[in-house]
Amino acid sequence: MGMLGVKTVDLFDKCFAPSRTRQAEELGIYPYFVPIASDSGPEVTIDGRKVLMFGSNNYLGLTQDPRVREAAVRAIEDYGTSCTGSRLMNGTLDLHVELEERIARFAGKEAALVFTTGFQTNLGTISGIVGRGDVVVMDRANHASIVDGCRLSFGRTIKYGHNDMQDLERVLAAHAGRSGLFIVVDGVFSMEGDLANLPEIVRLKNRYGARLMVDDAHGIGVMAARGTAHYFGLTDDVDLVMGTFSKSFASTGGFVAGDKEIIYYIKHHARSFLFSASIPPAAAAAALCSLDILENEPEHMERLWANTALWRAGLDKAGFNLGASQSPIIPVIIGEDLRVGTMWRKLFDDGLFVNAAVAPAVQPGKGLLRTSCIASHQEEHLYRGLEILERAGRHLGVLGAHGN
Ligand code: PMP
Repeated sequence: MGMLGVKTVDLFDKCFAPSRTRQAEELGIYPYFVPIASDSGPEVTIDGRKVLMFGSNNYLGLTQDPRVREAAVRAIEDYGTSCTGSRLMNGTLDLHVELEERIARFAGKEAALVFTTGFQTNLGTISGIVGRGDVVVMDRANHASIVDGCRLSFGRTIKYGHNDMQDLERVLAAHAGRSGLFIVVDGVFSMEGDLANLPEIVRLKNRYGARLMVDDAHGIGVMAARGTAHYFGLTDDVDLVMGTFSKSFASTGGFVAGDKEIIYYIKHHARSFLFSASIPPAAAAAALCSLDILENEPEHMERLWANTALWRAGLDKAGFNLGASQSPIIPVIIGEDLRVGTMWRKLFDDGLFVNAAVAPAVQPGKGLLRTSCIASHQEEHLYRGLEILERAGRHLGVLGAHGN
């Protein structure tokens, strides 16, 4: 009852309800928000303990590159710690303009726009470009930031089955000629590490007159220096390339690149760009320096792939279910949530950090441990990590359990 004797509903009731996360905490198998007390290299310090890191997006290991760190420090000395405003107002630096010009050239596009995070890039780009009467057609397994960008837009969103090209064609055929069609897809799917079928998506896009955006957060600097579209030889067929600086680029921030008129439109309609403080100087400078390295030093990507080959072969030999991964993101598919947590905890206790993913990040009942290598992992790290995983897998009976 409220103060006046009126029957009320407390908005906060849901916060006291039992939940899967509270249950996991009570069981001591809660795998999230673990405070790391060091930089994110091949080994990290957690609770005073050295732990092998196989759960980072630091694919090329550049967070530890002295040149990238030095560029960030120099930017703080030159520009301070923050721009204290949005790009539209007082928050544009010459550094941002240089970064956008460089990114556009790198992506093989006329222009680019840099946002403060990758998440904001998807939010602002999709909601800014998709208007009333338009239809976004997106893969069911796309990243949450794409889902939320669609939710914010005034258009309609239709999901198609993961990488199901017949389903995509069905949706396109149903709406072609009546609505502006925008296909949005992850280049590399962030949890399971499989690739979008870009050749077929491009064929369908051309057939039905749709536009295409590829979120290449996990493809740039990984599938090819210039990402998944480049890997497939389809750079010119992708209208908008989206990327983040929070992975291969060892920084934070995001970008979208495309034809100059389209980028100009997004620049004036993306609310997460217009009304949020710009990417800080240190982050912009670190991204610029990483871009130099991506363009000029293929050896980091080569080492990432050599490590990935060894890691994948070891996991495969042990008998883990690795799903359909075609990239350095290698999921160890476990199944039910509590089992994922139990396995995660065993690995953590034995000195290995990976990421636990359960629904809604993956399909319900298809929980997994997401693993990925860093270019700077040494063979010793890889063999030690594999041994820990195999021991835990044997202990919990998840080896050879394909079809989970
Ligand atoms: N897209 C994908 C596919 C991602 O995996 C992520 C980050 N996990 C983002 C977008 C958001 O990027 P950021 O971390 O820069 O906000």
